[in-house]
Amino acid sequence: MLSAAAERRAAEGLRPSPLTVRGLRKRYGDNEVVAGIDLTLAAGECFTLLGPNGAGKTTTLRCALGLSAPSAGELGLCGLPVPARAREARMRVGIVPQQDSLDPDFTCAENLVVYGRYFGIPEAVIAERIPRLLAFAGLEGKRDARIQSLSGGMKRRLTLARALVNDPELLVLDEPTTGLDPQARHLIWDRLKQLIRSGTTVLLTTHFMDEAERLADRLAILDAGRILTQGSPREVIAAHIEPQVVEVFGEWNGGGAAAWAAAHAAGLARRFEVSGETAFCYVDDAAPLIAHLAGQPDLRYLHRPANLEDVFLKLTGRELRD
Ligand code: ADP
Repeated sequence: MLSAAAERRAAEGLRPSPLTVRGLRKRYGDNEVVAGIDLTLAAGECFTLLGPNGAGKTTTLRCALGLSAPSAGELGLCGLPVPARAREARMRVGIVPQQDSLDPDFTCAENLVVYGRYFGIPEAVIAERIPRLLAFAGLEGKRDARIQSLSGGMKRRLTLARALVNDPELLVLDEPTTGLDPQARHLIWDRLKQLIRSGTTVLLTTHFMDEAERLADRLAILDAGRILTQGSPREVIAAHIEPQVVEVFGEWNGGGAAAWAAAHAAGLARRFEVSGETAFCYVDDAAPLIAHLAGQPDLRYLHRPANLEDVFLKLTGRELRD
């Protein structure tokens, strides 16, 4: 199901899907890191691949872009078969890789020019686009600044501007805000929302739930090379998690929330889980549980709506990934 916004945008243009992935598999030796992925992006939507480290997000993107050869599967990028016609297809795509690959010897404007030449865009057209791209990235005053003088957030924004030099139909971003401070992340989100509103299809990977919740019309949660669930953030939450969560912590009868949960949570919650010093109680109606907790002065609690992180942890587990 598409979100209303994505449906409207898709209907407006009736544009073909910018990316189709059928039965994608990728092996490295004996290790199958992508194990049968199917995806179809709708024109104009923001689709997010969400998954823990090592889930196969980057590998999926690299195969979709024709930068890595799939072991099996059929891929179509901007209507062209990949890898057979990947180079041609990539001319219509903007790519923001995980690692910034700006040329440190050049200024901001020169980086845009060099990248634009790669697409065969005439110099005059690039020159005309540069002020708009720098303004979009909030780098108006940095036209002649060297890359070394830019902050991490500025480099990310310049990489985003560079990915737009060819006016792409599809913008692909691999963990666009990893390593950025909150202010810099918000600025990137703001710019991505502007692009999505203007009709650019966006495909991004992230391991940040808030990023997916803010930006995605639809998302897929991946782990171990497989899609565990996909849909709009609301659909995914509704399909997997009770609507309310009460996190319980503190002291109880000389034990912690785990001891309290063992004694009471099963009677008060549809489902509960203890992680560290917190009991996560998943409920349809939190009122009976909260009334009970009112009589337990040494326990504290946080009552909130269920979110993507709850789904993510339920589906991918709470164990650390390295
Ligand atoms: P994610 O982007 O979700 O963190 P990746 O797609 O980068 O995951 O990696 C998925 C798995 O594939 C990881 O276990 C990673 O170590 C492995 N992998 C990625 N690239 C290579 C490679 N070139 N050779 C061998 N293994 C690789």
